[in-house]
Amino acid sequence: MIRMHIAFALAAAFAAGAVASELTIFADGAYKADIVLPAAPNGVEKLAAEELTYHFRKAFGKAPEVVGEDKVDAVRHPFHIYLGTTKAATAAGLPVGKLADEEHVVKTVGSGLYLLGGDGDTTYDEAVDWKRVAMRGTLYAAYDFLENEMDVRWLWPGETGEVVPKRAALVVGALDRRAQEPLLVRFYYGGGYKVKTGFASDENAQAFFREQKRLLLRQRLGKRVDIRSGHSFAQWWKNYHEKHPEYFNLLPNGKRMPHRTPTLCTMCVSEPGVWKQRVEEWRRWWANVSRQRHAPCPWVNCCENDSPALCTCERCRSWDGPDPRFEKSPYWNGSMAKDFDETWLGRKFTPDIGLSAGGRWVLPRTPWSDGERAASLSDRYVRFYNEVAALAKQYNPEAKAIGYAYANYIDPPLKTRVGADTVIIFVPRSYFPYDDEEFANFRKQWGGWVKMGATRMVYRPNYMLACGNHPNDTARRILPDFAFAYTNGMFACQQDSLTGAWSAQAMHLYAMTRAMRDPLRGYEKARADMLSGFGKAAGTVNRYFDMVEANSARWTSESYRQMGMKNITRDDVGGTFRNPNAVLGDFFDDRFFSDCYAILDEAVREAADDAAVKARIEFLRKGLRDTELGRQCRIAQKARAADPNDTAKKAAFAAAFKALVDYRASVEGDFVCDYSFHANWERLFVGWPHKVRKDSQLR
Ligand SMILES: [Zn+2]
Repeated sequence: MIRMHIAFALAAAFAAGAVASELTIFADGAYKADIVLPAAPNGVEKLAAEELTYHFRKAFGKAPEVVGEDKVDAVRHPFHIYLGTTKAATAAGLPVGKLADEEHVVKTVGSGLYLLGGDGDTTYDEAVDWKRVAMRGTLYAAYDFLENEMDVRWLWPGETGEVVPKRAALVVGALDRRAQEPLLVRFYYGGGYKVKTGFASDENAQAFFREQKRLLLRQRLGKRVDIRSGHSFAQWWKNYHEKHPEYFNLLPNGKRMPHRTPTLCTMCVSEPGVWKQRVEEWRRWWANVSRQRHAPCPWVNCCENDSPALCTCERCRSWDGPDPRFEKSPYWNGSMAKDFDETWLGRKFTPDIGLSAGGRWVLPRTPWSDGERAASLSDRYVRFYNEVAALAKQYNPEAKAIGYAYANYIDPPLKTRVGADTVIIFVPRSYFPYDDEEFANFRKQWGGWVKMGATRMVYRPNYMLACGNHPNDTARRILPDFAFAYTNGMFACQQDSLTGAWSAQAMHLYAMTRAMRDPLRGYEKARADMLSGFGKAAGTVNRYFDMVEANSARWTSESYRQMGMKNITRDDVGGTFRNPNAVLGDFFDDRFFSDCYAILDEAVREAADDAAVKARIEFLRKGLRDTELGRQCRIAQKARAADPNDTAKKAAFAAAFKALVDYRASVEGDFVCDYSFHANWERLFVGWPHKVRKDSQLR
């Protein structure tokens, strides 16, 4: 029966005078093709049909017909777009049921366009949520078609970010593409509504997160396997310190105890009891999760707590590489021991290992630290991972140990090779600026790890955290390194974090997000994608993005550090990822805003009567205006702080803050920014009086 349909459809196509290698989707104001689903479609196929329908309606002005395969009418439509595991696809010789997870195919055969992929047993609910482990091959085939045959682009959340060129007709030639997502994991941490602040209305917050989710789905963020990682010893002090003090770092004061907070206490990683305890915990965990749908990798999470590693014990030290910085360092050479408790215990930073949060700027240049790195503990950590992997493999041949290259163990090891069963998560030392020094350093470090045996690595940068919700674009500098990582062992990417500054950082976020599914594509093509949404104003908008990029590029790590040290608020150095607002007064000048507005005004004039382009230009203006108001708020706050008894200055700060909050309320429905994320930082680190809403109903 199916074969007859196909034969009939082919005959109809020839009768209509179509060339065999061409397939008409739309012509003469009508669809020549329908969308055909299997008689019992899976969740991914249903979602793919919805997405095709949505974009076809925008492109052609009307919705296509979507039918089940058992109801195809070959007379009404001479051509067919077959989605997923149709019988027609099997009959046409496509690899139905043989595609790998997240693999997809776009192929024409006769009068049929076949869009299918490896969907596993993914449900609709899993498919729509990019954060969940799910195989979305058929959906990706649909997106491939929309992007490559219809020039659709998704620039930012919400409708103004959807670029869907209008078409009077669409005829496609022979197509034959097959591909799988190159990275197993394409992931941003964050991206949800956690602290109920920043948004004036629940509806707007809800709409923002819904549209952000949709955008990231379209950009193919997702994962085909779950890798459990992240600072993993936070509860150890609480759970084990009474019975097993030997698990914990020995400080220069001769005590095994937390340097600051118990959850940040680091381990004595050369202690065999630590390996055994960790593997025991892992076995309990695995017994539980291995039965789950989409069980994670059976890997032992050895990621250390979020602190520089601190154990000074003789055995740990004997595992370290021959790094001359140990001898020069007061922390490691013993000279800090005498007054350690009085001077250093409980402090956020010690002068020579002062990582991690913001450490790149608080670490002064000294004879024992080059201002970027302290004595390296990588050798001891690699050996720790290797030991745990060997122990775990006694219980499960698939086991591996996964651990960080991080903080003061980010340099490549000097003498200890990374074992075949150790997976390294590389966390670059910085997030801003991405200057020449950073560029050189990244290659040296990543390349060094590869040389020492780390052939499979997870890239886990913090670059997305840079510059709060302010105009910033360093993607042109980052992406060549991202490509370098990909050609040197990167198999997964987990970025910290999605801060959702879609307007102010439009170009940066687009380029970074787009790269996760195509690590070798580079920045220029991403810029071209972005400009495709600006019609006649594209050249002028290009200058706007250049301006943003230039302001980011004018900072070196040294000048940024100096600016940060001049803007310490609540014991937090300015310009760190949590405290970008402290430096707002200095990071931009008045001229930046007036120049940017002038360019955007010019772009609006060029856009003439193109309402969609004008809406996109106005979208860019909103993030800029928000930052300008934030900057005025910070300047007023500093003036008040310098003169606390001046009531006029107090009132000026209150007025500036109100102007910011009122403005946000007026634009928060336009998907400009995740205002909850940024207001929370403004509240906690620079002390702006945002209210946490008690009335919010959202979870
Ligand atoms: Zn130790």
